[in-house]
Amino acid sequence: MEGFRERFILCCQSTFPCFGDPANEFTKPPNRELPPTPVEKPGCVYIALYDYTARTENDLSFNAGDKLEPLRKEEDWWYARGITGISANKEGYIPANYVAPEESLDAEPWYFPETKRLEAEKMLMSQENKNGAFLIRNCESQAGELSLSALLQNKKVKHFKIRRLDNGGYFVSRIQSFFTLKELVEHYSNVDGLSVRLTEPCKKTMAPETHGLSYNTVDQWEIPRSSLKLLKKLGAGQFGEVYEGIWNDSTAVAVKTLKPGSMDTKDFLREAQIMKKLRHPKLIQLYAVCTTEEPIYIVTELMSNGSLLEYLQKDRGASLQMSDQIEMGSQVASGMAFIELQNYIHRDLAARNVLVGDNNVCKVADFGLARVFQMENENVYEAKEGGKFPVKWTAPEAIHENKFTIKSDVWSFGILLYEIVTFGQMPYPTMTNFQVIQQLPKGYRMPCPLNCPKYLYDIMSECWKDSPADRPTFETLQWKLEDCFDMDVSSYDDTNRY
Ligand code: ATP
Repeated sequence: MEGFRERFILCCQSTFPCFGDPANEFTKPPNRELPPTPVEKPGCVYIALYDYTARTENDLSFNAGDKLEPLRKEEDWWYARGITGISANKEGYIPANYVAPEESLDAEPWYFPETKRLEAEKMLMSQENKNGAFLIRNCESQAGELSLSALLQNKKVKHFKIRRLDNGGYFVSRIQSFFTLKELVEHYSNVDGLSVRLTEPCKKTMAPETHGLSYNTVDQWEIPRSSLKLLKKLGAGQFGEVYEGIWNDSTAVAVKTLKPGSMDTKDFLREAQIMKKLRHPKLIQLYAVCTTEEPIYIVTELMSNGSLLEYLQKDRGASLQMSDQIEMGSQVASGMAFIELQNYIHRDLAARNVLVGDNNVCKVADFGLARVFQMENENVYEAKEGGKFPVKWTAPEAIHENKFTIKSDVWSFGILLYEIVTFGQMPYPTMTNFQVIQQLPKGYRMPCPLNCPKYLYDIMSECWKDSPADRPTFETLQWKLEDCFDMDVSSYDDTNRY
């Protein structure tokens, strides 16, 4: 009752639209039409959401907040003219995913729709943010709902559910509702209606990957070898080496150099046509290739922390909490759910083929490559014995009948979860490949690893069902894992409990 009165008083003092009527239990905004979503017209102004530095002489550099007018829109790169800021009165190509129409929700600096709850916490707790920093994101546990996450004084993050009224308004507390999210934000920036007064939008530290390296490389993605400089060797796999490189003296990339003879160029190019279309925030983007001579180069986005396997095994792994580990698993499931949706198959899913960026961001790499690599020995069993075949990650039907499907990827995902939870331990640690091949058909499965929660082991066990049809989809795996850390609704503030 006390809180109710406080909120009522605040409501009456507010300079913003306030529809609270203490006589009514449920308050509604007056019956006013909501402003229509802006319709795009020629000359429509866009706001830059992130900084962008030109990578070619045809590009336009701009800073977050600059205004731009697209003159010609193609799919991923637009030809635009700068209106304000460093790009003012200049023309060039801009990445379309770096801008949003002025006055749209997407242009609001506090709107982070695709950010997960745990990511929101990490972002808000980063050093650049001060008390009251906030963002609004899609709620993971309830599709279509929104959540407000804010940084409190004690460096903790609190989450508030934003509810919608049937006629379109928004509210955190039923006492007070608003026509738009902007009005809601403005209101709670001015009064202490929540346990924290909102101060400024969470800093956007990471710009998204552009689609392709530049306007020109979207279609012509065979790039001259001379446009790449290889700077530092990052590692080596069975089929070649990986370097940190720089493209066009402007853009950091990873370059995979393939051992001559590891694959047929025509096969690779056919597969790569599909791979380059697979774009998702949790899949490593294939940027470009150099295939006119050997060694073939595969140019992809660069990930600051290398492979998930090394990341788990190094000291960083020791500082990971179970919630981080589950979140990493759910990120991989999210990338794989997209591959599933596209009717594609990875064929070699394992922690060594997942890469880690800043803030534990995980992306699936090397999808589809296994199909085009030429195994040294065509005989699968020979290859397995020679250590060329990832037996311990491969589903029985793929080992015995060469049946690779998205369901054999699900089996591998179960093994990957085991790697995550054991900080990169070798699966079936006391068994040889041969023993694994012999024991699986007899029903043997790895036992629950030490310190692994039962619900996580249950998910792994589902992935290792004998019949591929009985294994879950990646979509299911994604929500099951997300539910593991989002089930705890009690950590939501109860302002809107009723
Ligand atoms: P294999 O190809 O035999 O399955 P692998 O996947 O470990 O083994 P590569 O894909 O060649 O081998 O990668 C070798 C190492 O290079 C990785 O373990 C990782 O540390 C690093 N690496 C690969 N790609 C990238 C990238 N895009 N960004 C940063 N580091 C990378």
